[in-house]
Amino acid sequence: MLGCRSRRPLMDPAPNLLDVAQLAEIAQARAECAPRLYALVSSVGSQRAAWEVLHEAGLFPDAAGKFYAAVRKYGLEATLDGLFTLDRLAIIRALIVNPAPFAIPRVSVSTLANQFYCEMQVHLARSHALRTESAELAAGAAGHAAFEAEAEEISPEEINRAITAGEPLELVEMPLSAEVHGVRIVGRADRIHLEGKRATLVLEFKFSGRRELFPSHIVQVEAYGRMLEANGFSTDRLVYAVAVLPRGRKVTDGLAAQIAERAFRAARDGLSMTDPRPPTGAPDPLAGLTARRIDDEAFGLWVFRHHRARVERDLSWALHYWSGRRAPEGTASRGKCRACPFNAATLCEAAKAPPDGRYAVKRTEGRYGVLHVVQPARRGP
Ligand code: SF4
Repeated sequence: MLGCRSRRPLMDPAPNLLDVAQLAEIAQARAECAPRLYALVSSVGSQRAAWEVLHEAGLFPDAAGKFYAAVRKYGLEATLDGLFTLDRLAIIRALIVNPAPFAIPRVSVSTLANQFYCEMQVHLARSHALRTESAELAAGAAGHAAFEAEAEEISPEEINRAITAGEPLELVEMPLSAEVHGVRIVGRADRIHLEGKRATLVLEFKFSGRRELFPSHIVQVEAYGRMLEANGFSTDRLVYAVAVLPRGRKVTDGLAAQIAERAFRAARDGLSMTDPRPPTGAPDPLAGLTARRIDDEAFGLWVFRHHRARVERDLSWALHYWSGRRAPEGTASRGKCRACPFNAATLCEAAKAPPDGRYAVKRTEGRYGVLHVVQPARRGP
């Protein structure tokens, strides 16, 4: 008869008195500090900025990618929870009492784009914990991973060499950062085509059942164009393309290259630039835009040209919120307010209509303050 050995004792040894005292100290620190740590980390405008706050304080020594993965897998609260260890308590207390100020405010491209759906939602998300599930986001993340998997790794040195040599370059998931109007914008462009120091294409992929072009899509590619310009690239022939793929679609090899080729062809076939509206109030990125729509079985594609004044109009409005030059604005759309989870959770004083009841809200008083969990409401019996 074969023997069997267990690697672990059947019962954990009873905690000694020192362990109990340490656990009590950690629990007390959590109760005192967790809400302020959460408020600090969630208010900084991007996940990258949140990681930088924690990394520079010495609380999260790992690379940014590990922080993003932890937040994706466990949520922000649980990720911050894991930081409460005995050796970090003094650092956590010092950080929340005296957080190192960013030299300038920071915002991610996706957050900037969300301002064009409703800026008040962006604002409320910085100060309230609200969790809701989105099938669209999950599908988008899977699709992006598939595109990224097609790309070959290339070092920054190789990129610089190709740019200096004036060679054509297609960059996938390219991290970009630039200071614009006193705000640091950070983001990862799905696909950028360069010819030396000239940017020729910014291409973004969206995964949705609706093939429409939304203002947030436009602002996203505009932000990458503006960041390329701020990094010394010429944008005089820059083309923007937004490809909309069905949710959960399997991405075939070469589809991204095929879409890019279709975008260039559409631009070559004639695509004029347009006069922007004067920059007053919240701009509508769709107003006056000349875009070409291409419908393929596999995707919908919107193509339009870079126009410096349009980009300036859209981005300066959005960035003035982050630089503190104006208060947040709520959408004027009653439809958006009716469907808004912040409205369902009674967090928005700027709502233009009551919530339509599609969400059920559970409020729980946790150590990170009130958490609003917004779920689809059950319909019928
Ligand atoms: S209720 Fe309306 S204005 Fe308020 S956050 Fe929601 S969508 Fe924006």
